Amino acid sequence: MPIRLHDSLSRELRELKPSQPDGVFRFYNCGPTVYAPAHIGNFRTFVVNDVLRRLLELEFGAGKVKHVRNLTDVDDKTIQRARDEGRPLADVTTRWTEKFHADCAALNCLPPHEEPRATDPRYLREQVNMIEVLMDKGNAYRAPDGSVYFKVSSFKDYGRLSRVKERELQPGAALKAHAADADEKEDGSDFALWKAWKPDDGPNKWPGPKGAAEGRPGWHIECSAMNKALLGETIDLHTGGVDLLFPHHENEIAQSECCNGQTFARHWYHSEHLLVDGKKMSKSLGNLYTLDDLVAKGFSPMALRYALLMGHPRKQLNFTLDSLHAAESALATLSSNFHTINDPRNIVAGPEECHRFDEVFDQLSDDLNTPGALGKFFPAARELMATVKPTKADGGAFQRVLFAFGFQPLSLKQLAKGAVYDAPSGVTALAEKRWAAKLAKDYATADALRKELAAAGWSMADRKDGYSLEPAKKS
Ligand code: AMP
Ligand code: ZN
Repeated sequence: MPIRLHDSLSRELRELKPSQPDGVFRFYNCGPTVYAPAHIGNFRTFVVNDVLRRLLELEFGAGKVKHVRNLTDVDDKTIQRARDEGRPLADVTTRWTEKFHADCAALNCLPPHEEPRATDPRYLREQVNMIEVLMDKGNAYRAPDGSVYFKVSSFKDYGRLSRVKERELQPGAALKAHAADADEKEDGSDFALWKAWKPDDGPNKWPGPKGAAEGRPGWHIECSAMNKALLGETIDLHTGGVDLLFPHHENEIAQSECCNGQTFARHWYHSEHLLVDGKKMSKSLGNLYTLDDLVAKGFSPMALRYALLMGHPRKQLNFTLDSLHAAESALATLSSNFHTINDPRNIVAGPEECHRFDEVFDQLSDDLNTPGALGKFFPAARELMATVKPTKADGGAFQRVLFAFGFQPLSLKQLAKGAVYDAPSGVTALAEKRWAAKLAKDYATADALRKELAAAGWSMADRKDGYSLEPAKKS
């Protein structure tokens, strides 16, 4: 079944296919701003895009997908962070880039084929070149302070993606809210391509386009330039979280199409946001989680990956810690199935092909319906476990499904230990003490220690030959 995905521009489900004669599918996903750890909402977007990348590779072949994701390593937030810490900008952005890579690896996200940085001289040159072309063509102008702005009124298609005009919302009004520098612009809706240096920027400045001041690129131009440099003037798919639709993606279209005179992206896909306990994540609400926060609570990165795929990517997903419990046990089941199905002692001869999991792929290919696909995966796996001995083809098909979701099964050793959760060492020490007290029939101490464990957010289940630990469920 061909992959069909919602296109935010036409608002239709459309088939994904490569458009260039080389058959390579060109895919750009807006990446993170590297000034702090990414939160689990950001990772919802990146995990969804990773499943898409995997599905595209299964459809077109691993060498026939080119995936680019940028790193925004200069903007107000990164510069502010460097100033607050009294460190060079590059130190701050390198540190958070490394953390982002480590988190992506823990979540088993495939690295993009190219990961350009906004301040890399090669891409700075490309950004400056594009701005100069836009100025020459009359789509951009220099402001009195030496900044350069895109003239929104020069692009008649402005607003097609976000329907900004249909909503009777003047682009000017929508953008004015963001525009601290509105005085410098000819019109409130115009947006910065190049920002002239100001004292708050400290040492962070680069030579600008012809006639402009020294400074730094605006955020939007970075993605237009990287697309052009690495994927060409027309790409097959451009993605990001729904908040990027306006103004970021609208502005990317305006810049690229005015500069290149070509359709920029043939397909636009936006995934919805993650909510936590029904609310937008924010530091002040205390509901902003990073991957490390969840690992400290004993959950595995794979459980987060699973939980992030439990909702339809085009609907808001409400994240709760309880959903991670469900994810851990689902992953344990899949892991145990995986080992049984792939155990050479169990495998019997059979047909070369296996179609047991076709419906899983049908769901994924139908607008990346990840919950629908999980819903088909479990019964098919259960049937395989229950009715017959697996063939080699069954094992291969099961692994293909795991690959598409990006799930790494737990090892046999982990399963045998019941080590689904990774408790911090302080918690394990308490559990050991409690187990010893119980064996010594010192029930008062054992009860007191159980309370201590509960206060630390863990519950201990006793078996005849040992115990297991798991994060306590909310009552
Ligand atoms: P940023 O680092 O802020 O540029 O964001 C990186 C990516 O995460 C973008 O594609 C955003 O749209 C996406 N994003 C930000 N917040 C959330 C959220 N709560 N849920 C899902 N995706 C998000
Ligand atoms: Zn972008």
